[in-house]
Amino acid sequence: MSGRCAACKNQRRRCPSDCIFAPYFPANDPQRFASVHRIYGGSNVGKMLQQIPPYLREQAANTLYYEAQCRIRNPVYGCVGVISKLSQEISNTEIALSQIETQIDCHKNQVQQAKAESKFNVLSTIEAESNFDVLQGQSSSATEFHMPSQLKWFNKNSDFQ
Ligand SMILES: [Zn+2]
Repeated sequence: MSGRCAACKNQRRRCPSDCIFAPYFPANDPQRFASVHRIYGGSNVGKMLQQIPPYLREQAANTLYYEAQCRIRNPVYGCVGVISKLSQEISNTEIALSQIETQIDCHKNQVQQAKAESKFNVLSTIEAESNFDVLQGQSSSATEFHMPSQLKWFNKNSDFQ
């Protein structure tokens, strides 16, 4: 009887060669079967495994064990407690991500604006310089042109003093 699986050992029965539990609940891990037995009942676990195609039974046994552990640790929420905690973390992270994306967009806009402004400043400096040349050219001729009349006006006013 030393070759019994953990389930058959726990249930104090003979372990048949085609035991549904044996591949998933080895004798060297009695806690694994004890957990699912405590939450679902050993015979229910056997029935659940029987309804699942053999190639998926290992996964099913693993998740039943995980769910049972969660239910033992958290009798109120079980694995739903883990799911809702992770779901909340995802939601918080998505909010944080969208805030960071907004900040990145804002910084990109600032950089583009700064680039545009520095281009504008260079252009306006060039423009201002060329305008200055034009103005200088204009003003020199304007000074030459207006100076006599201004002098005349000044002289005219000074006549009254
Ligand atoms: Zn067995």
